[in-house]
Amino acid sequence: MSYFSDIYNGVKSLITGMKVTGGYFIHARKGAITQQYPDNRETLKMFDRFRGEVVMPHDENNQHRCTGCQSCEIACPNGSIEIIWDRAIDPETGKKKKKIDKHIYHLSMCTMCGLCIEACPTDAIVWAQNYENSVYDRSYLTKTLNQPGSTVQAGVED
Ligand code: SF4
Ligand code: SF4
Repeated sequence: MSYFSDIYNGVKSLITGMKVTGGYFIHARKGAITQQYPDNRETLKMFDRFRGEVVMPHDENNQHRCTGCQSCEIACPNGSIEIIWDRAIDPETGKKKKKIDKHIYHLSMCTMCGLCIEACPTDAIVWAQNYENSVYDRSYLTKTLNQPGSTVQAGVED
């Protein structure tokens, strides 16, 4: 008796599995398919919530929103962010003011947890959606997020 019930259970489990596969097969043309990467590299668009790497947007005047407050560096659980900062004389007040020198991001260590982005009080860093981060030299995965010669946007520090 157990022989036949084993066969029954085996066939039942096979049909259950094939139902899922069959569902994907039938709806394949509606988007429920495996991406044909890298053949579709030119057209592949990652979904909105995809986390590729942390980046710092700059505007057309090469200005960003980073004040060098270090909140992201403190929030990062594994030391993937290093903020190198300095103090400079503010021409308006004549007083010394904190100023970012380099915002260093180690993509090779980043776990994409997003705590740095959540911690940033000025929305200076965001997720990028690039997904091709393979390199032969690991040092290429250490990046300076603020561009050379960039400055902080007026009013961001207030
Ligand atoms: S996403 Fe997480 S691990 Fe990556 S730099 Fe930000 S806080 Fe660190
Ligand atoms: S990216 Fe944001 S949290 Fe990090 S130093 Fe700049 S302003 Fe502060």
